[in-house]
Amino acid sequence: MKLIALMENQEIDSRVSITPDIAKKLIDLGHEVLVEKDAGQGAGFSDLEYEKYGVKIAERTNISEADVAFSINPLAIKDIKKLKKNAIVISNQEPFQRNENISLFKEREITSFALEFIPRTTRAQYMDVLSSQASLAGYKAAIEAAHILNRGLPLMITTAGTVPAAKVLVMGAGVAGLQAIATAKRLGAIVGASDVRASVKEQVESLGAKFIEVESSEKTDGVYAKEMSDEYKKAQEAKLRSVLPNQDIVITTAQIPGKRAPIIIKSDMVALMKSGSIIIDLASKTGGNCENTEPGKTVEVNGVKIVAFDNILNLIAYDASRLFAKNIFSFFELLTQQMEKQKNISNIDDEIIKATLLTCEGKIISGRINLN
Ligand code: NAD
Repeated sequence: MKLIALMENQEIDSRVSITPDIAKKLIDLGHEVLVEKDAGQGAGFSDLEYEKYGVKIAERTNISEADVAFSINPLAIKDIKKLKKNAIVISNQEPFQRNENISLFKEREITSFALEFIPRTTRAQYMDVLSSQASLAGYKAAIEAAHILNRGLPLMITTAGTVPAAKVLVMGAGVAGLQAIATAKRLGAIVGASDVRASVKEQVESLGAKFIEVESSEKTDGVYAKEMSDEYKKAQEAKLRSVLPNQDIVITTAQIPGKRAPIIIKSDMVALMKSGSIIIDLASKTGGNCENTEPGKTVEVNGVKIVAFDNILNLIAYDASRLFAKNIFSFFELLTQQMEKQKNISNIDDEIIKATLLTCEGKIISGRINLN
């Protein structure tokens, strides 16, 4: 098949969906691989490097020849309009926000897959772009916090006196949170973390951090968090009011799949924090965990900096692209194996393919999409 990897909108994303090593693996499988000119530049992969592996550097308009188009972010309408009938699009699709894209996929009989619908199962973890990217975001959040903080992180005993270890609190101990905890620990901070899912306590403790319990009768578990009751929210708030004044860095990562992120730090709770301390809000794209968060900005309230990156992955675009490309390769390998057995994509009986397929042959297949 003829595959194309498109350049992301460089104003918002420096990553690239296919890296040179993955392009080579696709070529070795017998595919022709096109990469849009300069697509890898922002992540540190030059056109020359792609060419070395047999990639053809292409113009964006070459999308019209492609059997498969890869991208990290949803395609622009004008790109979708150039795709041929039955072409396959594999990318994050923002499926609950991009009705126009989905209508167009349907109308133009394009097969589209949403990578954010990859299930949280063991078998799917090699393809899980949300996990691979969240892990790097968590790491980078801890590094950036250490960089911005006007104090050191580890305990330092010097002839001029002792520098105490900084205190870091991580709210939400999922993929990003656990990586933030591990990184802050490696940097020598004293780390505490909390989550609505009680089962993560063991994982937090195994990283050498303290699990901060919220005294509530409500418990939730499994891999999907839910919106908590008012009783839980009150208990969590009370706990945070006692813990926040001691923290130097707070990294928030709390999300509820498919919903707005919960607000767990209100303005008057920020006011309890020490001047000079920092909140890094990794949930800003889905609304933010702090009432003062402004996406893409650093806001200062009573000397507390509340930082919300537009796209923290731009600061680690090389590794983020490498992991994303590996995830895409695993997904595409599964898809092509299944297509050999079953030509009609909408009839493929595989839980990962079924979960991610949005549109096919002029129909909306995903039961999670309702355009009306
Ligand atoms: P996420 O990004 O949706 O949420 C981040 C964390 O925030 C979660 O741990 C969640 O419980 C927590 N949270 C939600 N509301 C909160 C609140 N009000 N206060 C405090 N914390 C709150 O989650 P994620 O990181 O993508 O993953 C969550 C779980 O799913 C993890 O245990 C992860 O290991 C698992 N997972 C498994 C796979 C797989 O097996 N393939 C893939 C992805 C995730």
